[in-house]
Amino acid sequence: MATANTPAFNKMLYTPLAEIDPEVKNIIDKETWRQFSGLELIASENLTSLATMEANGSILTNKYSEGLPGARYYGGNEYIDELEILCRKRALQAYNLDPAKWGVNVQPYSGSTANFAALTALIQPQDRLMGLGLPDGGHLTHGYYTAKKKMTASSIYFQSFPYALDPSTQLIDYPGLEKQAKIFKPRLIICGASAYPRDWDYATLKAICDKEGAWLMADIAHTSGLVAAQQLNNPFEYCDVVTTTTHKTLRGPRAGLIFFRKDSPNHEDLEKRVNDAVFPACQGGPHNNTIAAVATALLQVSQPEFKEYARQVIANAKTLGSSLVDYGYKLQTGGTDNHLVLWDLRPLGLTGSKVEKVCDLLGITINKNAVSGDASAQTPGGIRLGTSALTSRNMQEEDIKVVAELLHRAIQISLLLQKEAGSKMLKDFIRVATTETKGKVGARKVKELRQDVVAFARKWPLPGVDVSTLQRPSGIEEDF
Ligand SMILES: *Cc1c(COP(=O)(O)O)cnc(C)c1O
Repeated sequence: MATANTPAFNKMLYTPLAEIDPEVKNIIDKETWRQFSGLELIASENLTSLATMEANGSILTNKYSEGLPGARYYGGNEYIDELEILCRKRALQAYNLDPAKWGVNVQPYSGSTANFAALTALIQPQDRLMGLGLPDGGHLTHGYYTAKKKMTASSIYFQSFPYALDPSTQLIDYPGLEKQAKIFKPRLIICGASAYPRDWDYATLKAICDKEGAWLMADIAHTSGLVAAQQLNNPFEYCDVVTTTTHKTLRGPRAGLIFFRKDSPNHEDLEKRVNDAVFPACQGGPHNNTIAAVATALLQVSQPEFKEYARQVIANAKTLGSSLVDYGYKLQTGGTDNHLVLWDLRPLGLTGSKVEKVCDLLGITINKNAVSGDASAQTPGGIRLGTSALTSRNMQEEDIKVVAELLHRAIQISLLLQKEAGSKMLKDFIRVATTETKGKVGARKVKELRQDVVAFARKWPLPGVDVSTLQRPSGIEEDF
């Protein structure tokens, strides 16, 4: 607390947020209200725990600790060392890894920086790499480029070439990848995706890498919680390096991890290469508040209950998929093995952008997504839905059927709006969705469904928030 001797220039250090900065506080309150009142179906999002948020908001944010435990550039790191060592131990435990065979760097700020550091560790500038193409579900950081532009550091600083899905099955085309790799001779093959509803065949990928003398890296950002809970194939059996985010199915704070193999003769220096790539090659001081939060989240992941959570996430995704199929809709690959479904809207004559927009108006958060065979990446023909966050709000199969019905109604309204818009233009579509006009019913139907979505969403708790005392903040109008 400030005392009588606290100089004026330091009084602000002791003033709570609500008092010193009502503007930011109000934005946080509005966002809290939005999360409480809506249905979060973005497959890359989740709701982290109270304890994780406490650690993330802690005083550890004050400390600089460039380097590694026991080898820092600054003093005062005895507790930070203890923290980072604990976090590493928990990361290995969460994935059942033997510390003699695997190591981990817990400093990456996020998934993208973890990936760039991993590339920096494994290959030389301008070396060749292959990753799943973005339109087929891959991530930007796996080498994405367009005809006109190298889009990410992974294609700017390296030569990249995408592999693809087999259009007839919408599964990874492993024979095609093998043929391309034989010609392209990548030094690294990246597997893992952001929008792929099925599991990976790591053994086949490893065989291809061995043939071409390439490293195999798995980026399990999306599925890492499900992998830790042993509900999916284990990439650690076959890969040299595994990267992940910590905030998707793993349910931690926003950060990244890089696991590296220590146990084979050609991997002797992998530990040093990865650690040097993270710092000083790609990053500066670690975010120690985040590392504390990652450690706490990993402790939760190691509990038997987390396995139950992961099972429920998958059961919910399967229920969501089968409910949509029962309504007559088309899913990429027809269903899912993990936490997400890819919904192909093209048979309905709707675009992902339009359905995303309607869902936004309804308080259902989803994202437009390319589906296999899309003519243009600019107008994705589908949407991606995930069940991690809804499962974190306690929903189970019967509740997910209610969500599927709400989505079904959203599609019916989208079709009506498209008719009432009188054109295929997104701006006309948005106009009829948001303005009540004589003779048109779409905008009213959007409002009615929004009320049902909000009433349903507010029945559920929100981790880290006491919803029983939550009040609608100023700046949010509700006419119901
Ligand atoms: C989300 C994601 C990332 C990037 O993570 P950020 O934390 O947003 O940088 C990397 N790879 C994959 C496969 C992802 O899904």
